[in-house]
Amino acid sequence: MKITSAEFETSAAGIDDCPAWSLPEFAFIGRSNVGKSSLLNLLAGRKGLAKVSSTPGATQLVNFFRMNGSWALVDLPGYGYSKTPQSIRAGFQEAVSGYLLNRENLRCVFVLIDSRHSPQEIDLRFCGWLAEQSLPFVLAFTKTDKLKAGKVKSNVGAFVSDLAEICHGEPRAFLTSTKSGSGRGEVLDFIGQAM
Ligand code: GDP
Repeated sequence: MKITSAEFETSAAGIDDCPAWSLPEFAFIGRSNVGKSSLLNLLAGRKGLAKVSSTPGATQLVNFFRMNGSWALVDLPGYGYSKTPQSIRAGFQEAVSGYLLNRENLRCVFVLIDSRHSPQEIDLRFCGWLAEQSLPFVLAFTKTDKLKAGKVKSNVGAFVSDLAEICHGEPRAFLTSTKSGSGRGEVLDFIGQAM
């Protein structure tokens, strides 16, 4: 899919503030610093897009972007700020859980995973929760340019196999790099087919 337009629409603090449109929505979430803003900008082909709404204090908001006038990219607040393994709570602020559990427009969640690390408990638990809720999700591994291809492959394989133990089936996994631009075409084609 070619991106011809990408515009910030609005920020929502809860389900009631979400746009009253019927566009299919694709949501992006991950730990803080995973590379979410960079990936959103890469997908949109616009460097500053994901920064548009990033005013201080806006981190708990769900940000909506209208793409090609036909679908929406949704930037969800990150999870994993707390060091306590028990505390996946940060990912379940009202805005996030309200959106994920109630939004009819939602077609698929992209869970961003830093490809440099071995599987992290908080990411696995978040994916497990999505599976439990029967929410469709795929994985997008970020920063794949930062390590050797073989290492990326083994980290991705380890994550997918750990995940297979907690939920049925293996989710689709995309390998992305905002430095090389790799993965952009695959992610956009997937969205084009899923909308
Ligand atoms: P966010 O907090 O998840 O929105 O993460 P950012 O998009 O702000 O990225 C965090 C840091 O990782 C920044 O310094 C980015 O330049 C860097 N980064 C993000 N994606 C990539 C990537 O694919 N390759 C490399 N080399 N660096 C990346």
